[in-house]
Amino acid sequence: MNYHIALIAHDRKKEEMVNFVIAYEPVFRNHQLYATGTTGQRIMEQTSLSVHRFMSGPLGGDQQIGALVAQNVLDLLIFLRDPLMAQPHEPDIIALLRLCDVQGIPVATNVATAELLVKALDRGDFSWRELVHRYKS
Ligand code: PGA
Repeated sequence: MNYHIALIAHDRKKEEMVNFVIAYEPVFRNHQLYATGTTGQRIMEQTSLSVHRFMSGPLGGDQQIGALVAQNVLDLLIFLRDPLMAQPHEPDIIALLRLCDVQGIPVATNVATAELLVKALDRGDFSWRELVHRYKS
């Protein structure tokens, strides 16, 4: 199954995100990837993966990914937030995470959880999402 995965990393977390995606590149290769603008650019520069890039987070990229969540298209969100720095688009971040809770979408906000979820994805634990896609209106 080809799942829809969104990747977002705040500036001081971008290197961690790129290293994480490199480590799991063979898994990510099998899925449709989305990212906010700069995160997606960094991933595409440093891997051979193709990423659908939305706008930069502060310019609305989080909300564009939120639209995928609202439509229950997204299967997994990996959002490496910077817990030590205030963000100008904090309301968008909260809105995106809220929508994930509305739809029950698996979310990782740190790399330890991201690793658990990607391993789960790789061993087939996301198959319930196929039912969601099949039966959503
Ligand atoms: P960016 O957006 O990937 O365009 O930097 C993420 C963010 O900082 O919200």
